[in-house]
Amino acid sequence: MTGFGESIIHVDMDAFFVEVERLRDPGLVAKPVVVGGAGRRGVVASASYESRRFGVRSAMPMSVARRLCPGLVVVPADHDEYQRVSELVFGIFRDFTPIVEGLSLDEAFLDVAGLRRLFDHPVEIGHSIRQRLRAELGLPASVGIASTKFVAKLASEAAKPDGLTHIPAAETLTFLHALPVRSLWGVGEATRAALESLGVETVGDLAALDTLTLVARLGVSNGNHLAALARGEDPRRVVPDAAAKSISVSETYETDIASRERVDTELLRLCDRLGGRMRRSGLSGRTISLKVRYSDFTTITRSVTLVDPTDNSHEIRRAVGLLTSRLDWTRPVRLLGVEVGTLAEPGSPRQLTIEEPGKWQELADTVEQIRDRYGSTAIGPARLTPTDKNRSTTGSD
Ligand SMILES: [Mg+2]
Repeated sequence: MTGFGESIIHVDMDAFFVEVERLRDPGLVAKPVVVGGAGRRGVVASASYESRRFGVRSAMPMSVARRLCPGLVVVPADHDEYQRVSELVFGIFRDFTPIVEGLSLDEAFLDVAGLRRLFDHPVEIGHSIRQRLRAELGLPASVGIASTKFVAKLASEAAKPDGLTHIPAAETLTFLHALPVRSLWGVGEATRAALESLGVETVGDLAALDTLTLVARLGVSNGNHLAALARGEDPRRVVPDAAAKSISVSETYETDIASRERVDTELLRLCDRLGGRMRRSGLSGRTISLKVRYSDFTTITRSVTLVDPTDNSHEIRRAVGLLTSRLDWTRPVRLLGVEVGTLAEPGSPRQLTIEEPGKWQELADTVEQIRDRYGSTAIGPARLTPTDKNRSTTGSD
């Protein structure tokens, strides 16, 4: 690290789902907003900073969130939209370096050691990433810069919301030792209780403990791991993401589905969404899988492999139709999912359907153009009524 300094950047979008919703509806700005399921099984998937002041957090049951924060605005999750915006966010990351390791839709590590000829210092890169996310997408992000992954992640946490924290290598221990021990990766409730019984509250307390005591209490692997983290050591490299192996959509239903007709309608909806997502990402695939989770949580997956890759909702639906005929629909269904795997390279040649060459593709492209312009609910199969409220989705940010 000669001159260029710390080369690991952790970027974490702030309240990502909420901020994406605010782009579509500026009326949500500055209000206590959460994204998540409004119904009986609903949980908070993303909480605005206004709502966090009342104690609202991600993964909290919605009923608890509503109780903590009177006047809370609950927006249903739209994962297709978050996925779409996430691809734009990651596109900006990859403009800086190909070494991007995604942790979720809105969070990634970047290794910028290779950019030393283009930038004087990684902090410049961090500012530039934040500035581009704000200017091009209208989204706030927090950035942490350090010489290891786990310190970079802690630094972005310290920078939230909408900030940047740089921890020079020489100041790593000062920064680290002041933090509560629960901020370290791998410290859950049980470990924290064990550490507290040893009088450990901060990372500094942990560093002061001898490793033998730690290993005796927490086991060899966990004890050694935590001792190393407390010394600021983390040898893990940023591992760039492999290309996607499959694309899937799924939905957990607010009340279990008990009719075959309703199953067919929901599958039509899922195939339609999946086809749209595939066409937007330029991918097509040959293996179509159907996932069914019954109300007792038994889960069944069935697959069929096509001769040629497809990204076409109608063809996906037809394959799913073959699979549904082999399953038991007398039991109530809690979740349905459809996945396309064995993906072909983007831009590889596509076989059109034989009966009506080009027709379905043409229709699919037209539908996509209309949706790009007027939104994802502007057009769709006639059976999918836009007023259906019996749906819920979960996610996190
Ligand atoms: Mg985030």
